[in-house]
Amino acid sequence: MSIVIAIDGPAASGKGTLARRLAAHYGFAYLDTGTLYRAVGQSVRAAGGNPADPALAIAAANALDLSKIDEAAIRTREAGEAASLVAVMPEVRAAILHFQRDFALNPPGGKRGAVLDGRDIGTVVCPEADVKLFVTASPEVRARRRWLELKGSGSSVSEAQVLEDVKERDARDAGRAASPMKPAADAHLLDTTDLSIETAFGEAVRIIDKSMS
Ligand code: C5P
Repeated sequence: MSIVIAIDGPAASGKGTLARRLAAHYGFAYLDTGTLYRAVGQSVRAAGGNPADPALAIAAANALDLSKIDEAAIRTREAGEAASLVAVMPEVRAAILHFQRDFALNPPGGKRGAVLDGRDIGTVVCPEADVKLFVTASPEVRARRRWLELKGSGSSVSEAQVLEDVKERDARDAGRAASPMKPAADAHLLDTTDLSIETAFGEAVRIIDKSMS
């Protein structure tokens, strides 16, 4: 059986950076599940469709080809927004559930464990995960981090607009009926508002080592 570490939390909470570093630290495979929703939303957009249209979103989810994901295109603000629109649809979630579970149970490259990050890993995708973390930070701090990232990749969006996006996305992700974002009952909460990435990483390793000992 592989060892599974589930990391959930809202946009720009630091969960992606943390999950990637934890995977490297433990020698586990890493899956950023937001990539899958972004790719579905972006594929509808690229074809000129509206990601909120269930017929288009479901068809895109069923046809998802991971080898064709355009990394630059799925990292934009618009792709994040499209991801959260397609993610409310149970059929879209069902279409990519199997891939996520299979990754967790049979990590690629013969690795003995997997780290998955997203919104519903500890609650729905891997409820039996060995360790669950729910990573948060205040909306203002998350907006600043995301804004700096977007600015670094050439976007001219304002910080205020990013804060509005973050709040809107939180409300949609936490308020949807299908697999809403929420901490699993047995998740460890990690608030990174006042933590550097180094400190947050150290704290996560401490929690994981303690849970697995
Ligand atoms: O984490 P990221 O910002 O890339 O996720 C984009 C969107 O994909 C989220 O706002 C959320 O709506 C959706 N998502 C999800 N379940 C996951 C991962 C992402 O609903 N496990």
